[in-house]
Amino acid sequence: MDSVRSVFITGGSRGIGAAIARHLATVGYDIWLNYNTSDQAARAVQSDIEKCGRRCLLLPFDISDQEQVAETLEPLLAKQVPYAFVHNAGIARDVLLPMMQFDEWQQVLNTNLTGFFLTARLIVKHMLPQRAGRIVAISSVSGQTGQAGQVNYAASKAGLIGAAKSLAREVAKRNILVNVVAPGLIETEMIEELPMERILPLIPLARCGKVEEVAGVVDFLLSEAASYMTGQVLGVNGGLYM
Ligand code: NDP
Repeated sequence: MDSVRSVFITGGSRGIGAAIARHLATVGYDIWLNYNTSDQAARAVQSDIEKCGRRCLLLPFDISDQEQVAETLEPLLAKQVPYAFVHNAGIARDVLLPMMQFDEWQQVLNTNLTGFFLTARLIVKHMLPQRAGRIVAISSVSGQTGQAGQVNYAASKAGLIGAAKSLAREVAKRNILVNVVAPGLIETEMIEELPMERILPLIPLARCGKVEEVAGVVDFLLSEAASYMTGQVLGVNGGLYM
C-alpha cells in the first residue's frame, strides 16, 4: 500500500492555493490539485511538485457545479481517500450592496461556500470509515469583521466558519479535525486593485502577508503538532484583527 499521504486542494493553480500545494509537496504529501480554468498555471505547479519527488493529479473543474464535482471526485474517492482536504478556492466581486447584482451575490456564495458544501460532503463521506483526516477551510478576515463592499464575500467567508465549526462537531468522534485559516491581506492577484496606501496603516505588522505565510499554517494544521485542535479559526493577518 502507498504510505504517502495525499491532500486535495481546491483553487490550487494560483495564489495561496498554489503556495499551499507547493509547500505541502516539499514536506512529503502527494497533491490532488483542483482549479477552474488556469491550465498553464496549474501545470507549472504540477511540475514543481514533481520536481520534489511527489505526485500531482490535476483536477480541473468548477467547484460550484454539483455535476462536475461528483463526476470528478466520486470515481477517485472510490479508489483512494486523501488524508486532508483544503478548501481554498474563492472569488471576490466587490461592490456596495445597493449596486450589487444578483449574479455577483450568487457567484461568490456558490464558489466560496456552496463549493465547500459540495466537495466536503463527498470527501467526508469517504473519510469517516478511515477514522482519520484533516479539513482546512480558507476563510478571510472579512468573514470575521465584515468589510464595506464585501457583503457577498464576507457572508460567504463567515458562512465557511460556521460550516467548519459545525462539521468539526459532527466528525470529531471519528478523529477528523476541521479548522479554518482566516488570512488578512496576502500578496496575490486578488488584492492587486486595492488602495494599499489606505490599508497598510491599519495592519500592525505594516505589510501584506506572503502566500508562504498562509501555507505554513496549513502545514501545521495537517501535522501531528495540531492533533488536539479542531473547530478553531486561525488568523494570519499581521494583527489586522485580534
Ligand atoms: P487567486 O484569485 O489568486 O486564486 C484563486 C484560485 O481559486 C485559483 O486557483 C482559481 O482557479 C480558483 N478558483 C476560483 N473559482 C473556482 C471555481 N469555481 N472552481 C475551482 N477553482 C476556482 O486567490 P487567492 O490566492 O488570493 O485566494 C485564495 C483563497 O484565499 C480564496 O478563498 C480567498 O478568498 C482567500 N483569501 C485571500 C486573501 C488575499 O488577500 N489574497 C485574503 C483572505 C482570504 P483558476 O486559476 O482556474 O481561476
